[in-house]
Amino acid sequence: PAAGHEEHADLLDRRDAVFATAQEHYYADPPRIERGWRHHLVSTEGRSYLDIVNNVTPLGHAHPRLEQAVSRQLRRLNTNSRFHYASVVEFTERLAALLPDPLDTVFLVNSGSEAVDLGIRLAIGASGQLDVVALREAYHGWTYASDAVSTSLQDNPNALATRPSWVHTVDSPNSYRGRHRGADAVRYGPEAAAMIGDLAASGRPPGAFLSETFYGNAGGVALPEGYLAEVYAAVRRHGGLAVADEVQVGYGRLGHWFWGFEQQQVVPDVVCVAKAMGNGHPLGAVITSKEVAGRYRDQGYFFSSTGGSPVSSVVGLTVLDTLREEDLQGNAVRVGGRLKSRLQELANHHDIIGAVHGSGLYLGLELIRDHTTLDPATEETAELCDRMLDLGVIVQPTGDHLNILKIKPPLCIDATAADFFTDTLDRALTQLGHRR
Ligand code: PMP
Repeated sequence: PAAGHEEHADLLDRRDAVFATAQEHYYADPPRIERGWRHHLVSTEGRSYLDIVNNVTPLGHAHPRLEQAVSRQLRRLNTNSRFHYASVVEFTERLAALLPDPLDTVFLVNSGSEAVDLGIRLAIGASGQLDVVALREAYHGWTYASDAVSTSLQDNPNALATRPSWVHTVDSPNSYRGRHRGADAVRYGPEAAAMIGDLAASGRPPGAFLSETFYGNAGGVALPEGYLAEVYAAVRRHGGLAVADEVQVGYGRLGHWFWGFEQQQVVPDVVCVAKAMGNGHPLGAVITSKEVAGRYRDQGYFFSSTGGSPVSSVVGLTVLDTLREEDLQGNAVRVGGRLKSRLQELANHHDIIGAVHGSGLYLGLELIRDHTTLDPATEETAELCDRMLDLGVIVQPTGDHLNILKIKPPLCIDATAADFFTDTLDRALTQLGHRR
């Protein structure tokens, strides 16, 4: 074991010597993960961890069906997407069929950042308007345009001060700890709509309003009722488009809705998807109408060498088939519902639990020091994550105050593992002295 530890530390040093410092990692002293199976991860020391953070792998780790499909396709053909082959046509048709009219035209890319970047370019191209309105406390990616609309202070403390002048932000519509709380949260929509009106009056009508459709980055907080309907109407009234970032919350994770925008009862003009689509393989997409895609054709160019490659298309199809055949969206309803009510029960014993946000298997457990001031329990949350790791659970914080546990495990998680998670959380909170 001593030699193992040295090798482990050496690998971390080598990592820190060559990786750009902007790259983030989990844990100061992370386990080295060697393999995964369903919702479990196994370290080189043979320890097994319950994976509560992996919304990138809805089917679970090392799914044999995906492994076989990819191996078969890699043996046959993988090349750039200018060639003509059946899987890319099938996959594109299947994706388009998942969206309501008039969203029938698909661009295949390799990541969420690319999808959001292209989504913004499509909206600007189609509207001829260069300004974009985004939410505060949002994360949308690292490319020039997707970073420009990312305002999350957790990722970049200078985010608000360093926005390019074409980005305009509106309040984080957080009904738990935002400016308007509880029933007052209905005020966020009209305020954002008024801000869009003011921009238009000043001669800068926005080309896009971009947001997550269920507030993932802010901790899995549902947007206030009617919010997107109000804001989408405002941006369209002034010639702009509604762009939905479904990278985290879409693809069945919310349980009751395949897409987050369904929860808000709206249809966006442009939908950006990634993460879950590829179960860890780089795959993303932008889906829009023929009209919007056509207007962009005169303004910009699109070709992605590996977006929709033969292997990526097979991955995309296999993920969709498996999601359906294993009823993973149904599992998100069942296991997510159980998890949420068990977490709500835990709140009776631990004052530090302020709220349980979210839906299906996208939940956020918000930790606070005081139920009146909602003072965020940031340090306690970091300490809790380290203790959970010791007890065999990988879970991480999110939100501008890093005081919300993001609970977004592979969609194949079962009731036993969900119970293990809540029991372990109870134990860790008790050990840390938070039990009432
Ligand atoms: N949008 C949202 C909401 C995200 O959470 C992320 C990634 N965390 C992205 C976009 C960017 O996706 P990617 O990391 O695949 O570029």
